[in-house]
Amino acid sequence: MFKAILVEKDEAGYRATVRELDDTALPDGDVRLRVAYSTLNYKDALAITGKSPVVRKFPLVPGIDLAGTVESSTHPDYKPGDAVVLNGWGVGETHWGGLAQRARLSGDWLVPLPQAFTPAQAMAIGTAGYTAMLCVLALEQHGITPDKGPIVVTGASGGVGSVAVAVLAKLGYSVAAVTGRPQEAAYLRQLGATQVLERAEFTAPARPLAKERWAGAVDTVGSHTLANVCAQTQYRGVVTACGLAGGMDLPSTVAPFILRGVTLAGIDSVMCPRPERLQAWQRLASDLNLERLGLMASEIALEEALPAAEALLAGRVRGRVVVDVN
Ligand code: NDP
Repeated sequence: MFKAILVEKDEAGYRATVRELDDTALPDGDVRLRVAYSTLNYKDALAITGKSPVVRKFPLVPGIDLAGTVESSTHPDYKPGDAVVLNGWGVGETHWGGLAQRARLSGDWLVPLPQAFTPAQAMAIGTAGYTAMLCVLALEQHGITPDKGPIVVTGASGGVGSVAVAVLAKLGYSVAAVTGRPQEAAYLRQLGATQVLERAEFTAPARPLAKERWAGAVDTVGSHTLANVCAQTQYRGVVTACGLAGGMDLPSTVAPFILRGVTLAGIDSVMCPRPERLQAWQRLASDLNLERLGLMASEIALEEALPAAEALLAGRVRGRVVVDVN
């Protein structure tokens, strides 16, 4: 038997509860894992609360991330005792996920736990942090070096935003953090932000073009915020778009793209090819300061993930939440 959060949907409605499940309930897969830690990402909060149709199959254990140890494996790359990390691939959406003490899944989805991190640190990073690194890699691939100008990070006190601020600052970029929580200004400066800006400056409908302010952007918010960021991006700047915390729409014009040569780079972590995942984890090992990671992480028990999901969607969670499933 093992403990898990289970999401069910039936005549009684949509609900997530902590349950004792039998090993035989685990889905098919060539690797069986003992989970040490999982996390709470925005998507996990949606899956737990049912506020968006993240869960595609019922009943389902949510949790798009896990760090754990291989118990048994018929996959050629993994043997019992190996420490591994999983992010995405539909786990926690269509396949049972990490908010449980056990998991069974495809070894093709796993990456070895980077030596630089403990399992808890890897989950303090989680999908949010690995996505932030994918955004940074995209900025670099498009030639945005620190000398090109400042980078704006929206939703900065959230999980993706916090890691993006810390990594960009360590790499020598000047970082402007946009937040709806002015009380987190000191926290954002501790992570390395050089400017902290009010969210309200970005949420009104955008003009086609505005004063050029940014060489690049990491946008976790979408909607008017992303439109304003694009309109404020300087000639040949790059905007990485990874989130929708403020909405899925993009009320923009083509002006930034055709008149300023701005690049809008889409970032997806779920189906991202393995070589890029490995690169992102490798770069997190070298470019994320562990002290700053400690500042942004809090740890909760499995049962606490249920109320924490509501708090996260209400914008009351700062940084990253690690879930100790044991
Ligand atoms: P968090 O909830 O931790 O962070 C989101 C932050 O956005 C909040 O902390 C808040 O920051 C800000 N925010 C919340 N609501 C609004 C609003 N209505 N308008 C403007 N800003 C708002 O979530 P994550 O960091 O885990 O994820 C951020 C986004 O990125 C989500 O949309 C998530 O789905 C997406 N994502 C996408 C991935 C991909 O593969 N593309 C992978 C991982 C995440 P503050 O209080 O500082 O303003």
